[in-house]
Amino acid sequence: MIRKLFGLLTLTLAFCLTILGTAEAKPQVELLNIFAYNMDRTTVKVQIDYRGKLNPADVSLESSGSLMTLSINGASPGRINRIIERNIQAKNIIESVTVNSDKENTRLDFSMVIDFEQDGYTAKVTTREHPNPERKYSQMIIEIVKTGEGVQSSGTYQPQQPRRSGGENIDGTLSGRVIVLDAGHGGSDRGAVGPSGLTEKEVTLAVALKTEERLLNSGAEVIMTRRTDKDVASPNASNTAELGARVATAPRDAEIFISIHCNAFSNPNSNGMETFYYSGSSASYRLAALLNEELQYYGGLSNRGIKSANFYVIKHTHCPSSLIELGFITNYEEERLLASDEYQEKLAQAIVAAINRFFNE
Ligand SMILES: [Zn+2]
Repeated sequence: MIRKLFGLLTLTLAFCLTILGTAEAKPQVELLNIFAYNMDRTTVKVQIDYRGKLNPADVSLESSGSLMTLSINGASPGRINRIIERNIQAKNIIESVTVNSDKENTRLDFSMVIDFEQDGYTAKVTTREHPNPERKYSQMIIEIVKTGEGVQSSGTYQPQQPRRSGGENIDGTLSGRVIVLDAGHGGSDRGAVGPSGLTEKEVTLAVALKTEERLLNSGAEVIMTRRTDKDVASPNASNTAELGARVATAPRDAEIFISIHCNAFSNPNSNGMETFYYSGSSASYRLAALLNEELQYYGGLSNRGIKSANFYVIKHTHCPSSLIELGFITNYEEERLLASDEYQEKLAQAIVAAINRFFNE
């Protein structure tokens, strides 16, 4: 009943505005302030103060991988753009925040240091409206909490024997180097999916196989976590067991571990390539930086940078390692590139060029 009355009022208001020639919906809510801070080492609170009346249905929060997006319909960002940089603490969990807004909506994209699934984190948003929202500010609270253990090594998987080239056309620049390539996802886990149905697991495998061939021709010994469309542990294994099996594929004398992935996001405009390393290893940073340079050179996508992250496979490997995001499979143009044989070859060339520089520069 109240809702009906409210609907009628809204309709009347809209009608009046139309008559006045200002039918454009104006945000009802203005964001005033934002703070993010650690409650403890693994818990972060993001507090957003706002003025006006907010319907909880207009607030949505999505979190997956290393991205978290807060969308608020009917809200203007106010001044938070100017203060966001200095008010975001908890840098061990949140890397950066960007504010996107149009006339009616505001969206905050949080780039995370953690990976929600791999590190066992969840996020939820609640609103705490002040009883007199027109005069006093209300709050929106996002709580980012570590609820699970994330993924851990199964400890049962055996290292594999490296493959060596048959001997033709070997240029010897990587002679004797032991390199592990991890084609992300596979088997029951298809990874992210593009708008035309391209799956991440196909792209990562195709690029890994092309890279393997080039590495073998340079005299390297190559270990692949998978060479076909399969789960590395088993189809029903937990994430823990699956990623643990990938790490365990690396033999003791492995010198480099590269995990190949494609990025995905709810916004199809998100684009570009990025490379990750586990902080604390300067050799891993150097590897990620060289991969970043060569992927930019050969692939030509916009560069999202070299970033530190706690991804399981780069955290738990015992040699220099990097996880690379080749591009956004959810971006129409980048999906088209990632599907093409020619572009996959360029990516393989880039990875081999970076490995060459890693050992020989
Ligand atoms: Zn992936």
